[in-house]
Amino acid sequence: MNFDMRPENRDLLDRVVAMIRDEVVPLEDAYHGEIGKGDRWSYTDRQAEILEGLKAKAKAAGLWNFWLTDSAKGIGLSTVEYAYFAEEMGKTPLGAEVFNCSAPDTGNMEVFERYGTQAMKDHWLARLLDGQIRSAYLMTEPDVASSDATNIRMSCVRDGDDYVLNGEKWWASGAGDPRCKVYIVMVKTGGVDLPKHNRQSMIVVDAETPGIEVLRPMQVYGHDDAPHGHMHIRFSDVRVPAKDLLLGEGRGFEIAQGRLGPGRIHHCMRAIGQAEAALEQMCRRSLQREAFGKPLASLGANYDIIAECRMEIEMARLLCLKAAWYMDQGDKRAAAPWISQIKVVAPRVALKVIDEAVQMHGAQGISQDTPLANAWTHVRTLRLADGPDAVHRRQVARAELRRYTQEPV
Ligand SMILES: Cc1cc2nc3c(=O)[nH]c(=O)nc-3n(C[C@H](O)[C@H](O)[C@H](O)COP(=O)(O)OP(=O)(O)OC[C@H]3O[C@@H](n4cnc5c(N)ncnc54)[C@H](O)[C@@H]3O)c2cc1C
Repeated sequence: MNFDMRPENRDLLDRVVAMIRDEVVPLEDAYHGEIGKGDRWSYTDRQAEILEGLKAKAKAAGLWNFWLTDSAKGIGLSTVEYAYFAEEMGKTPLGAEVFNCSAPDTGNMEVFERYGTQAMKDHWLARLLDGQIRSAYLMTEPDVASSDATNIRMSCVRDGDDYVLNGEKWWASGAGDPRCKVYIVMVKTGGVDLPKHNRQSMIVVDAETPGIEVLRPMQVYGHDDAPHGHMHIRFSDVRVPAKDLLLGEGRGFEIAQGRLGPGRIHHCMRAIGQAEAALEQMCRRSLQREAFGKPLASLGANYDIIAECRMEIEMARLLCLKAAWYMDQGDKRAAAPWISQIKVVAPRVALKVIDEAVQMHGAQGISQDTPLANAWTHVRTLRLADGPDAVHRRQVARAELRRYTQEPV
């Protein structure tokens, strides 16, 4: 088991670290300060200038689309190598997008690349790879427990050369962005006569198709996350050409598994980056600020807290690299329990570290004056998004129990 990076990729990583430090971080405050000036769901000229300017620099420097780990189109990183890049990008909110590595686009691009027709690749994938447009993934529905995707019931009925879609989706991340032009939607095409994992399908929907209505942004602890957003969307008699159904009816689960595996581990890698950033802030604060005549670091159990945070981050990173290594072996089934383990562990560790960093900052820690409060809310959502903890723990336990019984578990 090898967690090393090839020397040429180490150099690439150093360039990413330098660009984040020297060019991205200095513009973060200016970028976020623009949100709410005018329409929250569009980009101000200054915001667009910052974001597109950084993207253009990254692309020109060849620092682009690192996530394409097993494709000729990408730089050719292994998943293990990409883990180090994702961790760095996770340290700052704009990090992933500047290098065209952000969710949900990476997962959606993967779907287009693996399962899309040539027409989809030309029309959607090319523009996504180029960073011209963005996309959303619509699986979760308000009326059903969506952690069990066999419950997904948006109707999708064949009518001539089209499918007609009716129903509601919510928590469609990124669908608030005016650049979001395409949705990949999980729908129900089959009934009880089919095995339960063959009843759902995935269909590609142009976001501007008549009948699509964005009802509202869902809020994360009171934040709407504009202009990205997590949208609640209604489909009323939305006609989609039948050729836009991916792979064929009943193959939605197959695609969902292909899509969510890499996406889950990318979230974890970035969460470890957020934990590292929080630990750095905690340490700096604890050395700079004094109470009772001593730096905060020397008071109470603060040395222990810092040490525990360091140790937990190291353990989480190693588990993440191990899951990435399993993915690189090409056996998705063998990798799945490892991905589930890290999907539980990484957000848990990151939340703990960020929470301790908040505590070390006193009241300022929960305010808008540090990135910590925002980081905490973001990482908290990871315990739900892409499968709640309980569902992943179940996967881990089933893999464990299968070692001791031939019976279905
Ligand atoms: C910020 C954010 C962004 C998101 N982005 C997207 C997106 O872009 N696209 C999208 O489709 N969805 C998205 N989601 C939705 C997310 O994937 C779902 O919320 C998640 O799959 C859970 O589905 P649910 O909310 O219907 O919860 P439910 O399925 O109702 O589950 C609720 C709870 O039941 C318990 N539970 C469920 N299964 C088990 C089990 N097997 N064992 C024990 N307990 C269990 C767990 O405690 C679970 O949290 C996002 C969510 C958030 C918060």
